[in-house]
Amino acid sequence: MIISKKKPFEEVAEDLEGLSRIVILGCGECATATRTGGPEEVAEMKAKLEELGKSVVFTEIVHTGCHELDVKRILRQAKDQVGDADGFLILSCGAGTQAARAATDKRVIPGCDPLFLGNIQRSMDFMEKCSHCGACIIDDTGAICPITRCAKGLVNGPCGGTSHGKCEIDPNMDCAWTLIFAQLKREGREDKMTKINPPKDWNVIRHPAELMDRGPDKQKMGKEV
Ligand code: SF4
Ligand code: SF4
Repeated sequence: MIISKKKPFEEVAEDLEGLSRIVILGCGECATATRTGGPEEVAEMKAKLEELGKSVVFTEIVHTGCHELDVKRILRQAKDQVGDADGFLILSCGAGTQAARAATDKRVIPGCDPLFLGNIQRSMDFMEKCSHCGACIIDDTGAICPITRCAKGLVNGPCGGTSHGKCEIDPNMDCAWTLIFAQLKREGREDKMTKINPPKDWNVIRHPAELMDRGPDKQKMGKEV
């Protein structure tokens, strides 16, 4: 799930200066779960913009905000309402904002700051556990990612600053390598701690990444075709 936070309303209002007819799009997936762009947040934003004297001409919670075809379909179906809008305010992650970008030539304004891919630990409690490095190594680390969960992204064991199982960067955070060692021990695979991993090859993923399914063995991912 993409974790975002709401931009301060003053910042949104500043971005919307000079625009009077606004479309607001939320997202039924991540932005709803993170309470940044679900039905309540869209209704709240609409009310605030109307207080500012703006006219909100159309609102919609796109089922999956980053689904470009779906966003295009919705805007096509609502062309009478959105046709004379001045701008689009998007309450979702940057992918959702750019799905709207792909669907209209008008001004598109982000209403949220996207933060990370987060696991849902409980309601409104999210933790980053994978940063999409493009070549997963956690088969050797007890399915715990040192690249993401070690504050220094170390791939060959702890830094030496570990204290009572906590990270020297933040004593409230578990040291990833302490967790990894404990898990490998449970699995009887502590020997994996001595394995020397090569420096992480960040070249396997490039931005913008793309994955196009062109059938078996013909996928395009990152630099590989
Ligand atoms: S090694 Fe870590 S960052 Fe890379 S893909 Fe695996 S879990 Fe994600
Ligand atoms: S204390 Fe642990 S998690 Fe923190 S930087 Fe060092 S190895 Fe990484």
